[in-house]
Amino acid sequence: MAYEDVYRRSIEQPEAFWGEEAKAIHWHVPPQQVLDYSNPPFRRWFVGGQTNLCYNAVDRHLAERGDQLALVAVSTETDVTRELTYRDLYREVNAFAAVLKKLDVGRGDRVVIYMPNMAEAVFAMLACARIGAVHSVVFGGFAAHNLALRIDDAQPKLLIAADAGSRGGKVIPYKPLVDEACAKAATPPARVLIVSRGLDAAEPKVAGRDEDYATLRAAVGDAEVPVEWLESNEPSYLLYTSGTTGKPKGVQRDVGGYAVAMALSMRTVFDVGPGQVMFSTSDVGWAVGHSYNVYGPLIVGATSVLYEGLPTHPDAGIWWALCEQYGVRTMFSSPTAVRVLKKHDIDFIKRHDLSELKYLFLAGEPLDEPTAHWITDALGKPVIDNYWQTETGWPALTLLPGLDMKPVRFGSPGFPNLGYRMKVIDESTGEDVGPGQKGVLVMQPPLPPGCMTTIWNDDARFLSSYFSHFKELLYSSLDWAIRDEDGYTFILGRTDDVINVAGHRLGTREIEESVSGFPAVAEAAVIGVADELKGQVPVVFATLRQATDEPHERVQAADGMRRTVEQSLGAVARPARVYIVNALPKTRSGKLLRRSLQALAQGADPGDLSTLDDPNALEEVKRALQRGPEVGS
Ligand code: ATP
Ligand code: MG
Repeated sequence: MAYEDVYRRSIEQPEAFWGEEAKAIHWHVPPQQVLDYSNPPFRRWFVGGQTNLCYNAVDRHLAERGDQLALVAVSTETDVTRELTYRDLYREVNAFAAVLKKLDVGRGDRVVIYMPNMAEAVFAMLACARIGAVHSVVFGGFAAHNLALRIDDAQPKLLIAADAGSRGGKVIPYKPLVDEACAKAATPPARVLIVSRGLDAAEPKVAGRDEDYATLRAAVGDAEVPVEWLESNEPSYLLYTSGTTGKPKGVQRDVGGYAVAMALSMRTVFDVGPGQVMFSTSDVGWAVGHSYNVYGPLIVGATSVLYEGLPTHPDAGIWWALCEQYGVRTMFSSPTAVRVLKKHDIDFIKRHDLSELKYLFLAGEPLDEPTAHWITDALGKPVIDNYWQTETGWPALTLLPGLDMKPVRFGSPGFPNLGYRMKVIDESTGEDVGPGQKGVLVMQPPLPPGCMTTIWNDDARFLSSYFSHFKELLYSSLDWAIRDEDGYTFILGRTDDVINVAGHRLGTREIEESVSGFPAVAEAAVIGVADELKGQVPVVFATLRQATDEPHERVQAADGMRRTVEQSLGAVARPARVYIVNALPKTRSGKLLRRSLQALAQGADPGDLSTLDDPNALEEVKRALQRGPEVGS
């Protein structure tokens, strides 16, 4: 079927379209109304329908595929691989749900899950879904401060934590972080459940608060816990945004709309169905992890591969070895991860039999062309750029190979996904801009099923964050975009990342893209720095594919970057200064912290750095600033 026809139907006849798609999931009570849009921009999908995410992800497959693999959890940190069939998953999820019940968790209660990519994190999420509790997974690498903020916002009855995480073989005990977060939080959870992998020698328990999962698990045995049927619009989970641009927002998701969006996108976007295998390298703490490590693949009866560890350990071929071993059909990762692999020999990929693999999807950050070319060459498969937000929960801009594979156009995540009414509009007039013109990427509400329903406990912030930017009621993505003659959309960066050089507005993404075109560059961040004459000037921080201390090599590389930008974007975009560093400051989800870089470069306070991944990267930048740029002054 042609994408254009299906897309048009999804936009022009949303109720007919989504009413049809809703049949892909199990409803305990079918919806009475497909869409209630009586209170814009709030909307309710599948009103009156009763369903359950856990039932759709697990119970529903028992009869036909009980012995098929549901979840493969591979850890190269602990050297443990767990392979669970749907029957195994059913047993473990029910046991976990029984433990939650014992701890007095019920429908509507929040549960914060603070765990790395381990099988029990998936059990915990599905167990919450089963009993109608609202989970909020907090990325296991976050510091106590981040955890405390989320605890105070979500006000969980229970916190579930691993004893420890591990990164590159280094054990990171979680219990001290949990204790610190609970001490910092104004409203700490009454109970803490520790799932121990024996990584951390038992920390002292807080009496009356802490419980050990293995002990309770043994006590419940093979208990079965009935599914709690939820109205389609009840909250299923909360997930905080990455916090790249400010205080994270508690994105709230529903039940029925999300399940339907998962089923639809697994088929039309990811092209994965019952019995097929999907491998997402995301952390369960991110939006991709929720949707395509847990709910999406399981809802359609596929096998999900979950991975804990570095992409380069035991060597840079580990992900491709897993693809070969499990016959992965669709893989999902991030540009950041591919840029890490790009520093290693291409043969780590080429030596594996990837005949089952059909596509690699990449999301989370702009995918620069050189990286896209490199990985496409290495795999010999389509590499599909995916534009997402935590808010959307599933791809907003994408190609849809499961429906109608259009040619990949490098630099573009493609077309609006089904049900997404996207426009590129002028920031001041709110009018649609023409092809080839820059504007703000917006969505016309009602947002499709699966997208956020509101910000947890804060409808006012939902309205002011997303819907207050234009005269018309529009959801602002806060990203710049440009659409070409054929409808391919290109993302130019965040609206707060635009720089103004002598009256010319330049997206930092364009300059980064150009800098990355210089072969020696591994990764680049471009920021605007105040300048007396020009208002702002572009400044580059870049890492090299092959790090070097040779001053003339560094100058040569920096010079090459400047020339490349000048040639492709003109003298106005020519970087005023180029700094070569060994690492760039990123969030834990691999997003460049351009705002902190900009602040440092202007001698200001870098702001909230609590989501910073590697403190060394910040020190690197400070040192580079002290030392002075490779080129420029
Ligand atoms: P916060 O909203 O809290 O500042 P965040 O926006 O980084 O954090 P996410 O929801 O994880 O949190 O990230 C979504 C953003 O990531 C998008 O708005 C966009 O800026 C960027 N992004 C995601 N995918 C792509 C892509 N394929 N190309 C370009 N940018 C992308
Ligand atoms: Mg955002």
